[in-house]
Amino acid sequence: MNEMIYLDHAATTRTLPEVTEAMAPYQDIYYGNPSTIYEFGEKSREAIERTRCFIARTIHARPEEIFFTSGGTESDNWALKEAVHLYESKNGRRKGHILTTPIEHHAILNSCRELEQTGCGVSYLKVDESGRVILREAEEDVLSRENVCLISVMYANNEIGTIEPIDELGRMAKRRNLIFHTDAVQAYGHLPIHVQREGIDMLSASAHKFGGPKGVGFLYIRREINLPAFVHGGAQESNRRAGTENVPGIVGMGVAAELAHKRMQTERRKIRYLRDYLAHRVLQEIPDVIMTGNRKFRLANNASFCFKGITGEAAAILLDTQGICVSSGSACSTGSLEDSHVLTAVGIESEWARGAVRITLGAENTKEEMDYVAEKIKMVIADMRGTR
Ligand code: PLP
Repeated sequence: MNEMIYLDHAATTRTLPEVTEAMAPYQDIYYGNPSTIYEFGEKSREAIERTRCFIARTIHARPEEIFFTSGGTESDNWALKEAVHLYESKNGRRKGHILTTPIEHHAILNSCRELEQTGCGVSYLKVDESGRVILREAEEDVLSRENVCLISVMYANNEIGTIEPIDELGRMAKRRNLIFHTDAVQAYGHLPIHVQREGIDMLSASAHKFGGPKGVGFLYIRREINLPAFVHGGAQESNRRAGTENVPGIVGMGVAAELAHKRMQTERRKIRYLRDYLAHRVLQEIPDVIMTGNRKFRLANNASFCFKGITGEAAAILLDTQGICVSSGSACSTGSLEDSHVLTAVGIESEWARGAVRITLGAENTKEEMDYVAEKIKMVIADMRGTR
């Protein structure tokens, strides 16, 4: 068994060895700037375009619809802020309105907050107790406003793993002629995605969530949407995203995407089996615990629990002393712990939300590790409750 058991794959993943190997020549051999006119830059240019074509194929988009960014946060900021600019410039400066959910990542929520400062409206679609958008109510929200400039709903939630009804939302957006963005940072590379069939106009993804390097991602923008540039400067990325391209990062993301798609079915099956095994043991053997999120529409690697009467942070720290990396559910804000906004939005009471522990598996985890982890969770929770 490994010295450390890593169970925080929703936070980040190990860069796969094949990825590191593929990136290396673009640091020290083919290091030419892709924008140069001499031939030396050609290799990096080719590598970027090859990756663009491959990534486009994985989501059934066209290569010219893929724009490389510095990751999920930038892609989300770009999609939201420029969709609002686009709407305002098309509608004589009339203020737009964004429909999103209360369980989005902070890259979306804080972008919305920023946009509200400029007069843009934001409302939050209702989600059920498992975190899924309630479609009937979403439809009413859409109908009740005239100035909706964007619907943005995450593909899958990073805390509780719930997969949203993306194709239904995409169809709803199409019926109303509205732009539909999805933050697919937790889904891309883990679930098959078809932007045409699912009616997705913009999609954010990030390499470090599927075995690629940190600091690189992409935004898919449907060709018909003339989304303005967000980062201004040079003419890179067809004048839409300035800055010398992160060539090694882009190459690494391409290889990671290739491996993720090749291994998706088998890895998903294995991970789901291990997740279910661990979840079963935790739910059977520990009192006063609930599993959050949706049982059916759920990322295969996510097991998120709330243990009554403890704090998730303390549990994560104690598990760390046992060589186990997991995440807790709270955010540290000015020195005090706040309940997760996701758990609050799905109606989990504070007494339970405080005890949130998120476990996210990867392909390298084993059943032996799950048995060890189940025993250690049992021990740590009993210690904290004083029941051992
Ligand atoms: N969106 C979601 C759903 C995420 O889980 C994350 C990262 O945790 C992000 C956006 C931000 O991505 P990045 O770390 O690439 O900026």
